[in-house]
Amino acid sequence: MTFWYQIVVATPAHSAVAGPLTYKSGQALAPGALVRVPLGKREVLGVVWGSLQGSGDLPESQARAIAGVLEGLPPLPATWRQLIGFTASYYQRSLGEVALAALPPQLRDLSSEQLARRLKRPVADTSYTPDAAANALSAVTLSTEQAAALAEFAADTRPALLFGATGSGKTEVYLRAAAQVLESDPQAQVLVMVPEINLTPQLQQRFETRFAHLGRERVVALHSGLTPAQRLKSWLSAHTGHARLVLGTRMAVLAPLPRLRLIVVDEEHDPSYKQQEGARYSARDLAVYRAKLETEDAGVPCRVLLGSATPSLESWQATLTGRYQRLTLNDRIDGAPTLVASRTALPPEGAARLWPGKAGSTAHADGIPSSTLVPSPDALPVKGGLPVVRRVDMNHQPKHCTVAPPLLDAITQRVARGEQSLIFLNRRGYAPVLACHDCGWKSECPHCSAFRVFHKIDRTLRCHHCGYTERVPRACPGCGNIDIAPVGRGTERLEEHLAELLAGVERPGGGPVRIARIDADSTRLKGALESQLASVHAGEVEVLVGTQMIAKGHDFRHITLVAAINPDGALFSSDFRAPERLFSLLMQAGGRAGRDARHSAASEMWVQTFHPTHPLFECLKKHDYPAFAAQQLEERQAAGMSPFGFSALIRAEAKSQDVAQGFLNAAAAAASAQQITAHDQVSAYPAVPMTIQRVANIERAQMLVESASRKALQHFLAAWQPLLFETRAQPEHKSLIRWAIDVDPIAI
Ligand code: ADP
Ligand code: ZN
Ligand code: ZN
Repeated sequence: MTFWYQIVVATPAHSAVAGPLTYKSGQALAPGALVRVPLGKREVLGVVWGSLQGSGDLPESQARAIAGVLEGLPPLPATWRQLIGFTASYYQRSLGEVALAALPPQLRDLSSEQLARRLKRPVADTSYTPDAAANALSAVTLSTEQAAALAEFAADTRPALLFGATGSGKTEVYLRAAAQVLESDPQAQVLVMVPEINLTPQLQQRFETRFAHLGRERVVALHSGLTPAQRLKSWLSAHTGHARLVLGTRMAVLAPLPRLRLIVVDEEHDPSYKQQEGARYSARDLAVYRAKLETEDAGVPCRVLLGSATPSLESWQATLTGRYQRLTLNDRIDGAPTLVASRTALPPEGAARLWPGKAGSTAHADGIPSSTLVPSPDALPVKGGLPVVRRVDMNHQPKHCTVAPPLLDAITQRVARGEQSLIFLNRRGYAPVLACHDCGWKSECPHCSAFRVFHKIDRTLRCHHCGYTERVPRACPGCGNIDIAPVGRGTERLEEHLAELLAGVERPGGGPVRIARIDADSTRLKGALESQLASVHAGEVEVLVGTQMIAKGHDFRHITLVAAINPDGALFSSDFRAPERLFSLLMQAGGRAGRDARHSAASEMWVQTFHPTHPLFECLKKHDYPAFAAQQLEERQAAGMSPFGFSALIRAEAKSQDVAQGFLNAAAAAASAQQITAHDQVSAYPAVPMTIQRVANIERAQMLVESASRKALQHFLAAWQPLLFETRAQPEHKSLIRWAIDVDPIAI
């Protein structure tokens, strides 16, 4: 007896063989079974997608036989296959690419025997005890708000968005929601997603400890930082149902979980949930879709719980229309409600703020000239324990100063009190440009349309786009002038500058102020980040300088001041999401301050800006995300942008802009010539160069396609794909290097 199957194998995204291939077998196989099949001269891993009555379009004699079956492994669940199918079609990639990329790489190399051995490896199981379970549930007493959020969550079925500041107790809510699911069904599985696993070792520990009673190795991690063997092990554990809780990054959303009942997406607004190559999927959006699939399949709810202090505007809007449920935590745990003193009622540093009633009598007592800080309405109530935000108007500061005198004062006072400050500048290196003032030479990268950054530590000019690195020239390459100078500041220079500014200051125990820098350069070596963080935690550092790397996730207990040196760039960016990202970054950075209740009354967030009255900073000052969101949503609605409109970017790369843009415009012309379905609801704009138009000598262009209807856009893209392939195959576009579609792009 011969059986016929459609098998999905890894096909290059842009090849003619996009769908499943037909194979035969003497053995009956279930959909979702993993097999090895011959492909050309190789043997590759494949997934049984479906069965056929006969050999289909392929003459029977040409069909090849399945070479082997990975025995012992349960078939991949139907919901997994549906999810993969959806991902491939929504993000316009081939099924084979998406399916095989979602499997652990090591699976491709294992023989059936090797696999069988892995599956048999015993896991000593400490048995489940109801006592321990009860412990897990009563580990801490929930705050009223947390209890209310959980009760509301349990009473609903919609996707939920948990909105609460850093430190408001969101993670505790995730833990409880997970515990409820895991205790109520002894086989249920929970998926918890985080943006970057390396930044959250504490989180993993918290989940492991809380669920230790479920037995050994029931909590597993799944992310790209694992070795191939660890990754396979976690994946097998998830797929076989042994793992009860999977903690992972975006890739984990595509893990097979046969009894998934809850998906938590922490920091749901984080851009790293969007995959930036291959199938450019949004793991957050897929989580919501997957929960729906799993619910339909199981007949019992699989819930999704998104959480953030600064939700994506897409999720926020969904709570406004009622598509998502909104749960709110207003107060920081332990944070005693404080009053923000307005500029005219500033209490002396670190003193009177605990007694807001006295504040009025001490105007300007902290020595900040009145022109420096921006007036704001009197005594705004601030949510418990959040830092006071101070905007420094840089128009009234000494010219070219990097650290305004009042900020320097505030840092100095922190040093004297034995507290830490975190100074934040989103630019690494010493200076973004090196320039000659005589002839105007600048440190452009010869291969990119960008400047190379001056790194003083090893005296190099480095391109942050293509990596091209050279020693700093002794003299100007343009005119021979030996006086070439850095322009602007990066973290390296800021660190040096702060050391000079604080040179005369002594720390309480004696000795100079210790400054540390954390950015992609200082943490390049393995373990460097961990050891630097450890020294911050140990109090061996007074001032910490860094990029956005330090703004996220870390739980610094002794930081009472966070300052953003130069955040203005994002206010006027051509990318419509730049303000959203800046706001969220500043809120997160501010969340680093005063996590320790002892300090929270005195913690401050400083923002140096030339636009102090910008609405973004007004909202930041009030810690008012809803106001910020309302204002952004209004702008986006007027412009028909996400979440009120849907878009895709088609990117093309070639040796010249002409070729790259020519391809895009020709493909658009082909679409309008063919009057693709629903084309009237979709607009394709002319191709334009990308913001950084040349990287590593490759010219990059993009075309924006928009529609007010997600469905119309999807129809259009699906119909357009074959035309893009056809256009690509035409001789005049032969020199095109590559093209790709990005659906729901997060940066434009
Ligand atoms: P978030 O995830 O919103 O930043 P966490 O859940 O991490 O907040 O809570 C912040 C801190 O407060 C943590 O140290 C946590 O252990 C503690 N915490 C959370 N909920 C409670 C509670 N109900 N009682 C006591 N401490 C709590
Ligand atoms: Zn010169
Ligand atoms: Zn370059």
